[in-house]
Amino acid sequence: MQEMQLTDSEIERYSRHILLDEVGGTGQAKLAAARVLVVGAGGLGSPLALYLAAAGVGRIGLVDDDVVELSNLQRQVAHTTQRIGQPKVASAAEAAGAINPGVQLVAHRLRLDAGNVGGLISGYDIVCDGTDNFATRFLLADACHLHARPLVSAAVLRFEAQLSVFRSHLGPPHPCYRCLYPEPPPPGLVPSCAEAGVLGAVTGVAGTLQATEVLKLILGIGELLDQRLLIWDALGARFRTVRLARDPHCLLCGEHGTIRDLSAHGGAALARTPA
Ligand code: ZN
Repeated sequence: MQEMQLTDSEIERYSRHILLDEVGGTGQAKLAAARVLVVGAGGLGSPLALYLAAAGVGRIGLVDDDVVELSNLQRQVAHTTQRIGQPKVASAAEAAGAINPGVQLVAHRLRLDAGNVGGLISGYDIVCDGTDNFATRFLLADACHLHARPLVSAAVLRFEAQLSVFRSHLGPPHPCYRCLYPEPPPPGLVPSCAEAGVLGAVTGVAGTLQATEVLKLILGIGELLDQRLLIWDALGARFRTVRLARDPHCLLCGEHGTIRDLSAHGGAALARTPA
């Protein structure tokens, strides 16, 4: 068994992990070797980046093209009042790096598109969706299936959160995001947090649940939220999970699926151009 050479300070930092039979020194070495991409450095991405860094995940990529705004601070706890106006990826990297300078934080200040998504996710083992719009959500879901990357997905609105882990590249019975939502909703049908609001703490819990699924995935422990959708009604204080089945007629992962590249997202030619 390959053991990571932990320094005294690392043994102390990660002692509550190392105490767990399910983690130990071997698990801590797996965390150090893992590369996780967090798309969206907002309400979900904040707890994701902070907990993944605290846990010792070796490389954490952050994707966002926005700057910190005052209206973000009610929920996006990686940012600070002092950092208003700074790029969110730089602000989140600073917060996560202050918790754990031993992990590598890579700031990708860009908007995900069909031309850059493949190259970006290929450099990581696991992808987390912490975005707030359907265009990016579907692009990321398609790219993760086509590039064989697990997708740890969460969405929040008002007082509700939904979470799932998609590993459709492993084949049946694993569903993909499009088995659940075949197409983006018509513009304007589903409001965004900017339009309908969200209770800040709800994003914190949802992002922390995402971080937990990422750590389970890296460590290979427990039962993943795979083939299941977790729905949390915060007002009712109720969690429930529903079974997610693979759709044999799915456009992405179905046997006769028609989505074979990212051309539907307006960039197939771009996607094939070497960087
Ligand atoms: Zn599917």
